[in-house]
Amino acid sequence: MSKDVAIVGAGPAGAWAAYSLARRGARVVLIDPSHPREKPCGGGVTGRALELIAASVAGQSLPTCHIHTARFLDSARARCAAVRLEDRPADRQPDLIVASRAHFDGALVAAAIDAGAELRRSRATDIRVERDGVRVETREGALRAACVIGADGANGLVRRRVAAAFRRDQLSIATGFFAHGVTSRELVIEFVADPPGYIWSFPRPDHLAIGICAQADAGFTAATLRRRTAAWLDKTGLARGARLEPYSWPIPSLNARDFDDLELAGPRWCLVGDAAGLVDPITREGIFFALASGQWAAETLAAGLDPAQYASRVREEAIVELARAAKLRSMFFAAPFLGLLIEALQQSASLRAVMADLVAGRQSYATLEWRLLKTCEVGLGWRFVTSSLTGRGA
Ligand SMILES: Cc1cc2nc3c(=O)[nH]c(=O)nc-3n(C[C@H](O)[C@H](O)[C@H](O)COP(=O)(O)OP(=O)(O)OC[C@H]3O[C@@H](n4cnc5c(N)ncnc54)[C@H](O)[C@@H]3O)c2cc1C
Repeated sequence: MSKDVAIVGAGPAGAWAAYSLARRGARVVLIDPSHPREKPCGGGVTGRALELIAASVAGQSLPTCHIHTARFLDSARARCAAVRLEDRPADRQPDLIVASRAHFDGALVAAAIDAGAELRRSRATDIRVERDGVRVETREGALRAACVIGADGANGLVRRRVAAAFRRDQLSIATGFFAHGVTSRELVIEFVADPPGYIWSFPRPDHLAIGICAQADAGFTAATLRRRTAAWLDKTGLARGARLEPYSWPIPSLNARDFDDLELAGPRWCLVGDAAGLVDPITREGIFFALASGQWAAETLAAGLDPAQYASRVREEAIVELARAAKLRSMFFAAPFLGLLIEALQQSASLRAVMADLVAGRQSYATLEWRLLKTCEVGLGWRFVTSSLTGRGA
């Protein structure tokens, strides 16, 4: 039987789109062969992401580590600063949890199935958008639907069929290790200028997710980046005694001009989450944008509206902010800024509050520069203001 919507990919974007469509009465098929599975990811899920899904998945019910502190390191100068994240009462969504993606994505897929979506455990091998519907070929046969949602990640098939694959300079490589047998209660983050970005350790109940990220065209191979991460682990001692399982994975990482030109929807199709390129180019937070865009696509299609309206909503509610982050990116990870940051964090409680909000996904880039200026950390604030006015990161 033909469906109203076929969704390719059951990560957060596809599973949440399926849930949102099915509970509005749409006939939905969710196509993905991979579950149950872990996905290479920090697994940091911010309060704003948890709020979106609160009606069906409670962050508190997942096996997670509740994070109380983010520690920022400057190992070259042997300095560090700890930022305390807000303690929330048990009945409120936490500011940040770190979840295994097997558990988090599994809970979203279960919610979609409970709401009435069909899970087809198969890989999509081709998509054809025709005048009267969409044909999806899978390894187990073809199926038809009125529309398709591409939720199949950064290198997804749907994007390649309905638009164009991301170029190398629009992707970053994230690589690192799952460190099994050790855990902790704090995030550890070290900003680095070369390659511009950060190294992280995110604790989960029985392991640490550790990684580094660089633009795919920056001249660093995954092997070089992994060696860099291993050296960092030796220096910090964070994963002593752990069994290290390596991973590498692409993340969309667009510049401001790319965001202006992004193809998000067309007749009978929408792209959501990583397949749409919706990842914060500074923090690399993608789970919130995956959930939000999945929900917006579902609301548009369930109401029988033109997919172009979904694209307009993404531009208004996400892309303005993501493009702002892209403009600030090169300044954020530049050595002079990083040099000021740790010392300022050690000294200023109001700057630590700004950082806590940034980590929890509560701080918009629109107000970040003025909030930094108000902390009286004039050097940091001024660099932000000049950078966003000149758009050096674009
Ligand atoms: C190392 C790393 C660390 C990260 N850390 C964080 C973090 O801490 N917090 C955060 O918010 N974001 C983080 N991100 C980004 C985040 O992982 C993504 O933005 C998020 O997973 C996007 O969700 P999605 O549903 O769009 O795609 P995905 O989660 O990539 O899901 C895509 C799904 O599509 C399926 N699929 C692919 N091709 C096909 C096909 N042909 N047929 C059927 N199914 C298919 C795959 O099996 C997969 O299940 C990180 C990313 C990486 C790589």
